[in-house]
Amino acid sequence: MRIISVNMDIISEATLAAKNLPVQSLKSWTGASVIRVDMLRLDLFDPVISGNKWYKLIYNLQAAKEQGFTTILTFGGPFSNHLVAAAAAAKKYGFRAIGIVRGMEPQSTVTLKDCIAYGMQLHGVTREEYKLKNDSDYLSAVSKQFNQPFIIPEGGANEAGRKGSALIAEMISDEYTNICLSAGTGTTLAGIRSILPVHQHVIGFAPMKGGHYLEEEIKPFLSEEKHDTFHITDEWHFGGFGKITPALQSFMDSFFSETDIQLDRVYTGKMMFGLQEMIARGEFDRDAKILCIHTGGVQGNVTMR
Ligand SMILES: *Cc1c(COP(=O)(O)O)cnc(C)c1O
Repeated sequence: MRIISVNMDIISEATLAAKNLPVQSLKSWTGASVIRVDMLRLDLFDPVISGNKWYKLIYNLQAAKEQGFTTILTFGGPFSNHLVAAAAAAKKYGFRAIGIVRGMEPQSTVTLKDCIAYGMQLHGVTREEYKLKNDSDYLSAVSKQFNQPFIIPEGGANEAGRKGSALIAEMISDEYTNICLSAGTGTTLAGIRSILPVHQHVIGFAPMKGGHYLEEEIKPFLSEEKHDTFHITDEWHFGGFGKITPALQSFMDSFFSETDIQLDRVYTGKMMFGLQEMIARGEFDRDAKILCIHTGGVQGNVTMR
């Protein structure tokens, strides 16, 4: 049976919640120049279904519901913000949820314990098997094994994920000259970039080594005229994905005492550290109006201690 009103609720609720998310001015960052730096607080949407993960899930969940699925299945590592967001969202919208976890100890982190607490059934697989997560033969086998669930790729990285992320662009005023966000798969960036007008330049901060390749991954999802309206920097990876240094930690601590905003150590901490250096180096016009997007992920700070 199809219950259209319930399907609509997932999207309209997200759109409504988006209207209430604040843009906070980072006054201490304005400094001597006239640069303005504001932060869009997607992290305030929900502490668990935080920020961008929510947007990447909503059209996936809507499609699952419309097609009559009662179970969703997705993929993630032991610290995955996506996995725990999917678990919480599935519970909220009445789906059963299965998580395929990279590594064989599926209860070893707080993130995974949270997934279980939300009712997600976890299956640990070897790293070798996990690498097959986008392989179509493997996915058919997984589908059979788990009784034909609705499969959402790791990180919500699909067309529905980009479509949901595009909703974030509606919260971004035309007056900003630069939009900054962290990019893992680039799904969120692609969705936002596809909607924003060309006069707004988007900077994606990759939290892993060699993340510059994301530029080529994102371009196919954008119209030609937008190919030069964004770029990815991987300068601030701090040793690799999930790695933290004392300098990064102390930056995040002082950012918190200045602004009362908690950054996450995997994504947004690195982005803001990088942005601060870019401003200090004079990489922006003096009248730049910069909007940074806080994509959430703060749940991970607890789980990684
Ligand atoms: C997952 C995540 C990202 C990366 O999003 P992509 O769409 O994969 O680029 C950025 N910030 C936070 C806090 C995240 O959890």
